[in-house]
Amino acid sequence: MTLIDPNLIQTSTSFDRAVVEQAVLFLDLDGTARHCMDEAVPGFVNKIEDVVIMPEAREGMKAWRDNGGRIVAISNQAGVGKGYISEIMIARIMAETQKCADDMFDMILWCPHDPDTTPCRCRKPGIGMPLRAISELSRRYPYEVVARDLSLFVGDRPEDEECARGLGVRFVSAEDWRRGHSQLPLVR
Ligand SMILES: [Zn+2]
Repeated sequence: MTLIDPNLIQTSTSFDRAVVEQAVLFLDLDGTARHCMDEAVPGFVNKIEDVVIMPEAREGMKAWRDNGGRIVAISNQAGVGKGYISEIMIARIMAETQKCADDMFDMILWCPHDPDTTPCRCRKPGIGMPLRAISELSRRYPYEVVARDLSLFVGDRPEDEECARGLGVRFVSAEDWRRGHSQLPLVR
């Protein structure tokens, strides 16, 4: 026979309510967290050996992680759709990026589409990638909910800022962020 312990029920009820509000750093890669070394195609990283995480970006990421925040990379990679680079190569470059960043990314998302031939919802300034990240995070961590008002979007291009606005997340320019401003998640 099992007796129901009222304290246990109380505990269980409290646990149901114990949803953690999570701050997410949505981070652009090229020109924001990664150096762009390729002189042939400026602005993008096209070779594994060219993957370098800027030291200031690493610091910013570490500070965010140490404060309990999650980090998601959001990257437009239209070079795939345009046929300049294969998606397998992008995947290898992203794996190297994760390694260089000491595995601090919870997720790395990229849009491979060429906006000239394949309009999509994932390419920034579209908000398809961050929305996908939010839904994936809630699947992975059922007791967390992404708090957009505590989150941050960092990028170096107008489409990053527009994406942040569409998402309802505070935007900080890559330069300011790397200088150490707004590196920490907000605390309610
Ligand atoms: Zn896309």
